[in-house]
Amino acid sequence: MLQEAELSIDDGAQESKNMKFAIKTFCKSGRARVGLLQLTTLGNKEIIEIETPALLLTTRKGLPAFIPPDHLPFLPSPDSRLLHFSPMHFMECPDLKTISKIGGVHRLLGLQGYGFVAVPRDSILSLPECNSSNKNGASFETPCGRFLVKPLEYMKMISSMKPDLWVSLADEVHASVTVKRNKVSVDRTITWLDTCISLKPRDGVLFGSIVGGCNVEERTRCAQEVAKRNVSGYYIGGFGLGDSIDERSTYLHAVTDSLPKEKPRQVCGLGLPEEVLQGIAAGIDLFDSTYIYHLTLEGFALIFPLNNDKCTQDPQLCPMASDYTKINLKATVYRKDTSRIVEGCTCYTCQNHTKAYINHLLNVHEMLAQILLEIHNTHHYLSFFRLIREAITEGKFEEFRQKFIQNRRGHLLAASPITFELESPVR
Ligand SMILES: [Zn+2]
Repeated sequence: MLQEAELSIDDGAQESKNMKFAIKTFCKSGRARVGLLQLTTLGNKEIIEIETPALLLTTRKGLPAFIPPDHLPFLPSPDSRLLHFSPMHFMECPDLKTISKIGGVHRLLGLQGYGFVAVPRDSILSLPECNSSNKNGASFETPCGRFLVKPLEYMKMISSMKPDLWVSLADEVHASVTVKRNKVSVDRTITWLDTCISLKPRDGVLFGSIVGGCNVEERTRCAQEVAKRNVSGYYIGGFGLGDSIDERSTYLHAVTDSLPKEKPRQVCGLGLPEEVLQGIAAGIDLFDSTYIYHLTLEGFALIFPLNNDKCTQDPQLCPMASDYTKINLKATVYRKDTSRIVEGCTCYTCQNHTKAYINHLLNVHEMLAQILLEIHNTHHYLSFFRLIREAITEGKFEEFRQKFIQNRRGHLLAASPITFELESPVR
């Protein structure tokens, strides 16, 4: 299945020639920070500047879910120009040699001005299957079946796809694994990182993967080992795999406290607003957008206020259709609702369409519903990240975080103390 691809041996050159990262502000009490990530895209050498903490748009085979290429300009730029994909999405076709011949993912998708971030695992189509991973490689569950990916094969994928930024292969394990299995996952991840470093292509920025499950010592050991390597940033894996939000801060802090402050940190598996705030409080810079993908898929639209004021309870909202942070536009209550999802929202959807129209599209299973919802939800979540950056810059991040969590908990309880729980997997 894997075709021959170009691989070159690391010549020890400075890793970060295509990426610069600078911290602009640190939160005065805590680890949260605002930074500037400057990426020179391998597609057309255009420079993308993105303020962090930032959201990477989760994609299916390189394109944001539900959004065709001609709709991408409707999303805020440059905030929406970092695309997160898994090389496992391309396991079936086209083959690597063809992708390499076309010129990598930028040219394959015709998105030269975008930054592509390759991560083996996502939370939609490529899930780590730790019981099937072994010393030779990591196993992933995908819609095309289960694949065991060896480090050399993974590097052939990276060399052929030519992402701007990529993370090393990791053995991500479920929170319930034994201490011994967890230790093995750290050892393998470090060994595979060394293989990835020795085979990395000349272009493309490498983030070293950190695992360690729900064990502070292993998290610390892995972070310290990865910090010794020649990498440009860090990918913190193993979250969103059965771990509890209540204990997660301890593991996140163990990792970020062991890493140099000047390099960016990315995480996968933290999606809910309170999880994002928890990650940012631990000093994480980059997140994926799986959360909004799931919302859109189920017909939800984000409505939480972006000025962090309490959401005024709309008498039209009923507990079955809303938890006051998002609404389910499939509900019959919206059938004749001629208002916008969020009055004053500047997104394409809210500028042009009503809740009633989206309710109709959802009920007749018209895909335009998901397109319009994804545009709004992406806008809304990117605005949420902008507010967080402003709060950090103004020295009010902790206040912002506490207020947001209190408001959200209040809304959830107001909606239904039984149906909605704060950490509900229903989201
Ligand atoms: Zn909108």
